[in-house]
Amino acid sequence: VAEPPRHPRPQGPVDASEIPRFVGVRTFARLPGPELLDRAAIAILGAPFDGGASFRPGARFGPSAIREGSLLLRGYNEALEVGPFAEVQVVDAGDAAANPLDLAAAHAQIEAAAARLHSAGARVFGLGGDHSVSLPLLRAAAGRHGPLALVQLDAHTDTTDEFFHTRVSHGTMFRRAIEEGLVDPSRSVQVGLRGSVYGPGHHPDNRALGFRTFMAREIDARGVGAACELVAQAVRGPAYLTVDIDVLDPAFAPGTGTPEPGGLTTRELLALVRGLVGLELVAADLVEVAPAYDASGATAITAASVAFEVLSLLALAARS
Ligand code: MN
Ligand code: MN
Repeated sequence: VAEPPRHPRPQGPVDASEIPRFVGVRTFARLPGPELLDRAAIAILGAPFDGGASFRPGARFGPSAIREGSLLLRGYNEALEVGPFAEVQVVDAGDAAANPLDLAAAHAQIEAAAARLHSAGARVFGLGGDHSVSLPLLRAAAGRHGPLALVQLDAHTDTTDEFFHTRVSHGTMFRRAIEEGLVDPSRSVQVGLRGSVYGPGHHPDNRALGFRTFMAREIDARGVGAACELVAQAVRGPAYLTVDIDVLDPAFAPGTGTPEPGGLTTRELLALVRGLVGLELVAADLVEVAPAYDASGATAITAASVAFEVLSLLALAARS
């Protein structure tokens, strides 16, 4: 009996010239599912939990909406000159079975699912879910790689101490991640911050944690390139990219839990993500897609395109 090749060619998406895009069981971009996990260099993991949302719920339906929104994705990224699905084996690992009534239990389930993928050597790309799911995803990633640089694309700092006398939610988890030593703020950057805040101390308190920040309005004067330069200066070593879809203006992504006018255009966000090429990315997530608030479905389609850029970065990181 012949041994299987040690490095079989990656199995990519279903061939859309043979099987129409709307046919079949939904995986991200019609990639192979969990049956190929033992070969995965990159694993996509749904984290369908929104019990950490303080305002509008619904991001538990984000992973399935992003998969549906990904049907039209093709395999080659001409801007970054990489075909991520041909470069390495990318697999849709399905969803963590997140308990909708118990945040701690749901987070433990998400962490365990991500940790299994990391321990098999995969780079993990989580699809939220509200932003609180970044905390268990970071626990799993840091458990494998040690303290991580964080690149956070978000309208909000997510570093408030408590809401409703509760320490873990989608507005507090990055303060917890720093306290737990998962994130090294001195080599971390937040881009896209904006909107009304609780008082004059909000942003100073956030920066006092050690983050470098690039406000959304700074893009008006300095452009996306300057944000990418700040990231390139600050971020060293193993890095984690988190994309809160609310970094986009609600004109482009209304389907989200905490919409904040004055955000990035989709074109700016795509340029920003592409500008992160060269980071030593070990894991990433894309969160806060709440499809029920966007009857057009555009938020999920946009999220899928942003996810394709993130997968391209992960594939390039896996190559080097
Ligand atoms: Mn946000
Ligand atoms: Mn957020």
